[in-house]
This record gives sequence, structure tokens and C-alpha cells, in this order.
Amino acid sequence: MSEPPLSEPLRVWAHIDLAALKHNLQSFKQQSASGAVMAVIKADAYGHGLAAVAHCLESQQIDFFGVAHVAEAQALTKLGIKTRIYLLGATLPEERAQIVEHGWTPCICSLAEAEHFDALAKEQGKQLKVHIAIDTGMGRGGFLPQQLVEVCPQLQSLEALIYEGVASHFCASDEDEVFTHLQIELFNTAVDTLKKQMNQDFEYLHLANTAGILDYDIPSCNLSRPGLGLYGIAVGLPKNINNSTDLQPVMTLKSKITLIRELPKGTSLSYGRDYITPHKMQVATVGIGYGDGYPRAVNNNGQAQVFIEGQLCPVLGRVTMDQILVDVSAVAQAKVGSQVELFGAHLSVNKVAQWAQTIPWEIFTQITPRVTRVVN
Ligand SMILES: *Cc1c(COP(=O)(O)O)cnc(C)c1O
Repeated sequence: MSEPPLSEPLRVWAHIDLAALKHNLQSFKQQSASGAVMAVIKADAYGHGLAAVAHCLESQQIDFFGVAHVAEAQALTKLGIKTRIYLLGATLPEERAQIVEHGWTPCICSLAEAEHFDALAKEQGKQLKVHIAIDTGMGRGGFLPQQLVEVCPQLQSLEALIYEGVASHFCASDEDEVFTHLQIELFNTAVDTLKKQMNQDFEYLHLANTAGILDYDIPSCNLSRPGLGLYGIAVGLPKNINNSTDLQPVMTLKSKITLIRELPKGTSLSYGRDYITPHKMQVATVGIGYGDGYPRAVNNNGQAQVFIEGQLCPVLGRVTMDQILVDVSAVAQAKVGSQVELFGAHLSVNKVAQWAQTIPWEIFTQITPRVTRVVN
């Protein structure tokens, strides 16, 4: 992985590897028969930086960008993005007029939402393409399968809405294989019901997040919605997790050693004196902390490591806001200015998430604005 020269003295930065992003997108395109992809870029592209990620993905041709809400859709539009924008969850009433105005694509999560969109579209003299959300187990919104027969005529009477797609969302595709298969069945049955009751076909049928795409064969769907996987992190059922190594991590979080000291046996390190040196040690101070989004919980059980000069080194004591302490006794080349990888190319963010007892999604989205995104 080649890295761009750093233009200012950075002490914490996230290197964003766009070649890896393109590779991952390609990999998802190849996994689906139709090749159609909705790239999920909510939460500032999972903390990777919206602008660079969106422009890069658009240059590779995708079908939709998936965002959480209107502010994120606005940000994409301001960037000059022309790819269609899809809103992944229920919308607020006050968000809807501009959704219609811009022709963004909502998923319809309730009849009230559908009626409001229809009224707004009529007011603006427009037709709006929408997708129908089916709740197959996530519980965040959409029509329950058993409501469909009743609701179809009502949906059909809304003449300003074009029902372009049907969607649902896995709630346990990386944990519960049996339930996930049930969701696929419920979805397929719901689509059949909608087709029959509404006497139409749907251009887009979509269900799968990253784990869904990697671990399940879903021939009935023709659009996939990868998020985490685009950023290079494989997630899925524990039994498969090691098979999907084709993905390349896009973000590498880095800092530098700011100081190295030899400390005698019995020296206490960091807040609360959790760690006392068991023998003489080379202790490096590194310029990153929870103020940058490196999780404080990471060293609760004393297992956290970072990657320095080709070696994994233990983090010592508690993570502070701006600095951590690391044992570099075994790394002869360690010096002030040595780069420190917190996660990325050599150390998976999945490990960091495990140490912090959380999930990689949360690690990425907690990286704070203080961290410069260095893109190439
Ligand atoms: C966030 C989200 C995704 C992407 O999920 P990953 O697990 O990151 O791939 C897909 N679909 C919906 C509806 C989402 O909210």
C-alpha cells in the first residue's frame, strides 16, 4: 500500500486507500448476478470521509447511495453527486417535501408515510419513485407480511407514487442462520403477494447487508446494500468469517511515538495506576487517545495491541484523551516519530472492536473530526 506524503506534521491520521475501496466494490459487484449495488455511506461513509468515498464510488458506477436521512442526502447533492440517493429508514414529516423536490428515493415504512409523500408529490406536480419496506424481523419499520393484502389497494390508490422496489433488512445475518433463512422466505413471499395484489413487477428487490451478501445465496434479490464490507471489513457467521478475506481494509488509523523512556520496575502507568511495570521497560508515549476516537474500553482487559515497526506491541494502562502508553521493549527500531498503526492494513479493526467489546461499525463511526483523513 503506497501512502501519500503528509503535508503537515500530523500526529493522528486515518489513511484512506481508494484503491482498496474500488477493489471491494468490484468484489461485491461480482458476487451479485445483476451487479447492481447500493453503496451504504451513512455516517460520513462509516467515518471514512463522505466526499472522497462518494466521488470514488460514483466514478465506478453504482446504482444508489444509501444514506440515513435528509442531511446526508443534502451533503451528497452539494458534492455534485448524480447517482441516485436512497433513504434507508423512516423519514420525518418535515424531511419529505425536499425528498420529493430532489427526487431522492425513500423506503415507505408506513401507510401514513406513503399518503404524505403522495400528497406532497401531487402538490409539486411530480411522481416519486419509492420502495416498499417489509418488516421481516428487524422491527424498525415497514409493513408486516400479514398486513400486505389489506394495504395493497390503499398503496395502489396513491397515484403520484411509483412503486419501483421492495426492501427488507436482515437483523441477525452474522449471528442466526436459521432466522436469516426465514427472513429470506418471508421476503420472497411478501414480494409475490405484492406482485399479485398490485398487478405489477418491481425493478429492485433488496435485502442483504454485508453479512447477508457474504454468507447467503439470495437469487430472488437483484440489488445488494453493502456497508462495512465496502470499507474492507468482512463480517458474517463465525463459521465463515475466515473465508471472505478478499476484502481489503480501506482505513488505516495511525499516530506517532512522541516520546520513549526507559522506566524501572515498579513504575505506575496512566490513570488509576492500573498498570505497574513488572520489570525494566522501554515505554513509548503515542499521540492518540479517546479524543480521537480510539476507544477507551480497548484496554479494560489489558489485551490491546498496536503495530509498530513491523511488530505488535501491548498497550499499557488506560487510554487517555490524547495519549496512550505502549511497551516497545521488543522493538529495537522504535524511536520518536515512528509510525504506530492502531488498526488497518496490519491489525484488523475487528480485533480492536473485540478488545473494546463493541463492533467495528462503532469503532469507525467514533473516529472524531480531530483525525485528518489522508486520502489516496
Ligand atoms: C446500514 C445499513 C446497511 C449496511 O449494513 P452493513 O452491515 O454495514 O453492510 C444496509 N441496509 C440498511 C437498511 C442499513 O441500515
